[in-house]
Amino acid sequence: MKKYNIAIAGATGLVGQTFLQVLEERNFPIENLYLMASSRSVGKIIKYKGENIKVEELNENSFDKDIDIALFSAGGEVSRKFSPIAASKGVIVVDNSSAFRMVDSIPLIVPEVNPEDVWNHNGIIANPNCSTIQSVVPLKVLDKKYKIKRIIYSTYQAVSGSGFAGIKDLENGLKGEAPENYPHQIAGNCLPHIDVFLENGNTKEEQKMIDETKKILRKDVRVTATCVRVPVLHSHSVSINIEFEKTFDINQIRKDLASVKGLVVEDDVKKNIYPMAINSKGKDEVFVGRVRRDESVENGINLWVVADNIRKGAATNTVQIAELLIAGDRGRKL
Ligand code: NAP
Repeated sequence: MKKYNIAIAGATGLVGQTFLQVLEERNFPIENLYLMASSRSVGKIIKYKGENIKVEELNENSFDKDIDIALFSAGGEVSRKFSPIAASKGVIVVDNSSAFRMVDSIPLIVPEVNPEDVWNHNGIIANPNCSTIQSVVPLKVLDKKYKIKRIIYSTYQAVSGSGFAGIKDLENGLKGEAPENYPHQIAGNCLPHIDVFLENGNTKEEQKMIDETKKILRKDVRVTATCVRVPVLHSHSVSINIEFEKTFDINQIRKDLASVKGLVVEDDVKKNIYPMAINSKGKDEVFVGRVRRDESVENGINLWVVADNIRKGAATNTVQIAELLIAGDRGRKL
């Protein structure tokens, strides 16, 4: 089997570390692995498949080597600066930040939803926002069959969505210490505030869900969102209210959802079975339950969708995109 030279930018971060775990678990065919982070981490040793690899500084010369694919997870500013440099040297970048997601010419990919778009890349492919990824996995099949008119998202997002800094704020908050990352205490609290506030009153996280959903579904659907940070360590939960143009049978909707690869229906309320954050930690699937009719509108349903934000919401989705690339490898430029 052909092997590839892979770079990870942000290898010391929460998502970067999970890239390594996922690459190893899925036995991704790697010839050489280059681990990059800020100057603070130079020389740190990280183990991959039992081999010690030294972290190098990400800089303008990092991509002068023969690298096929670079997985970026070092924040928007770093991506904006270094992804174009990497792409100009023939590297295909799969970027986890929000820097390029809404650029028309850059594909925004969830492999279960729009894998075909991956080939429209010009060297950079964007990985969507974590809450958007888990939400569009059930939406695609429903839109195809029943034509979605409107979506209302309400999210309950884990602190690991803010990297190690978010986890530290929750752990320290539980000991009574003041927050360093969030504007308020997160322990025992819910913050309706993820990312910065925009002119229209939405937070940037809410706007990302709205804009990215339309781009991935290739549809100018009506979407609104309220994103809330909750004192949960791992996995985001999203309540999704959907209005369709067409009529539907609720049992058929459950069957439609069960037919989607990577989506697991957990929906047996008589036995108290529904998706929960604690159960999805460490898993790659998206879980859906509480599937029920919204009786306040003509053709509406409610869903409860849960996924591990660091895995399917970030690392796993990114590695799946890289897998799409190597599956369709058409020579040196993939
Ligand atoms: P994190 O734990 O804070 O890690 C940040 C990583 O970026 C570290 O490896 C850090 O290296 C590196 N970095 C920071 N500044 C750098 C610079 N100037 N040059 C090179 N590397 C630099 O954060 P994270 O949760 O892994 O998130 C990283 C990115 O993934 C963000 O863009 C985030 O939006 C995105 N993302 C996160 C999630 C999530 O749920 N956490 C989900 C989807 C996407 P040092 O260790 O050397 O500082």
